[in-house]
Amino acid sequence: MSFSTLGLSNEIIRAVTERGYTKPTPIQMQAIPAVLSGGDLLAGAQTGTGKTASFTLPLLHRLSSDKNIKSTSNGCSPIRALILTPTRELAAQVELSVREYGKYLKLKSMVMFGGVSISQQKQRLQSRVDILVTTPGRLLDHVQQGTVNLSHIEVLVLDEADRMLDMGFIRDIRRILSLLPKQRQNLLFFATFSEKIKALAAGLLHHPTQIEVARRNVTADTVVQKVYKIDRDRKRQLLTHLIRQDNWQQVLVFTRTKYGADRLVKQLTQDRIQALAIHGNKSQSARTHALAKFKNGSLQVLVATDIAARGLDISELPHVVNFDLPNVPADYVHRIGRTGRAGASGAAISLVCVDEYQLLADIEKLIKQRLPFEVVAGLGANVQTQPEAIPDGRKHRPKPKGSKRPARSTAKPLPQTSVKPSAPRTVTGGKKSSGSSSSSRR
Ligand code: AMP
Repeated sequence: MSFSTLGLSNEIIRAVTERGYTKPTPIQMQAIPAVLSGGDLLAGAQTGTGKTASFTLPLLHRLSSDKNIKSTSNGCSPIRALILTPTRELAAQVELSVREYGKYLKLKSMVMFGGVSISQQKQRLQSRVDILVTTPGRLLDHVQQGTVNLSHIEVLVLDEADRMLDMGFIRDIRRILSLLPKQRQNLLFFATFSEKIKALAAGLLHHPTQIEVARRNVTADTVVQKVYKIDRDRKRQLLTHLIRQDNWQQVLVFTRTKYGADRLVKQLTQDRIQALAIHGNKSQSARTHALAKFKNGSLQVLVATDIAARGLDISELPHVVNFDLPNVPADYVHRIGRTGRAGASGAAISLVCVDEYQLLADIEKLIKQRLPFEVVAGLGANVQTQPEAIPDGRKHRPKPKGSKRPARSTAKPLPQTSVKPSAPRTVTGGKKSSGSSSSSRR
């Protein structure tokens, strides 16, 4: 199957061909005809599946082939499509795709989010905008100030709707829905299905086409998953060691808290590893700057919280590290789904301390896979230096017959270079005798 057999216009096909796409991905094969037909859609697909193009391409096609465009009272052509995203970064990324896929069309798009000047946005809204990509909060700011008109929206897209609900946007979404014309097409995308999504879909969609592309197989050969058992206050030391040992050039590190992200960046910087953080307390310009540097390869380590990193398309990312395990097991799948994309190989590494064993058990239950422990000589969990003495700590399943927790020592021993030359290294557990400890606060 090709893009042309899906019924897309030559201008759109030309743009995707120039982008290097030769054939549609599974979600695109199913979603494009459904959206072109004008009906509602409920689609389960994660970042990395090609989901953005799956709604952007047919949306562009529909809007550009309809020559019957109404004018608003001020004579301007109205906003015809609204794409809502949970985060600013995702909004920026989606709008970039809209522009790129629509570069041979006459449609105009705009991205809008908080953390940047509202007056420029107001100005831009006075000129032609066909497709508006925005986060719910800033959109409602404009609604309140009467600077945006949503009364001619023909297509509504909720991208990563599950994350929007997790982030508490349900009231904002309901408010926005009440401002839209009743007659419209609704496209709802989610990564993880839940009762909340079910309820939202029930109230929003009319006889939707339902699509669920296979969840990325997290056990795919292209993604190597490793778990290191490590004391909480030595996670930072292990991370520095791993980055240096294999000379990782681009690594995305997840922490559970904003505070933990900032603290880790400080510590890595002390270790002379270039790192920046993105999370909700960072200014928009700092977030954009960090992400741009990371994407163009000039930043070695990007430390992120789940919400800030959600939906980011950082292609062919070689290393993802879970500095803290996520509280929600599905987030593990989202996090590691960033590696090994498009056939590139990747490694997903989790640093797990004793109070995270239950979280690990929950993740293993979800992915239906047991992840073997790795140890770095001299850097393991402090109290349990003998694998035999390590309590499993993971519930839900019987231990494999006759075996204790598998602990493979495959990594090279901690090299002296990861320790300051003047600092003698204590032998037990390889704990550094100097430098700050990194007990992470929840
Ligand atoms: P998404 O799931 O929308 O975040 O897309 C993930 C990545 O897949 C992006 O880098 C897209 O540029 C890329 N992509 C989307 N559609 C295709 C396609 N048909 N062929 C190859 N790559 C694609």
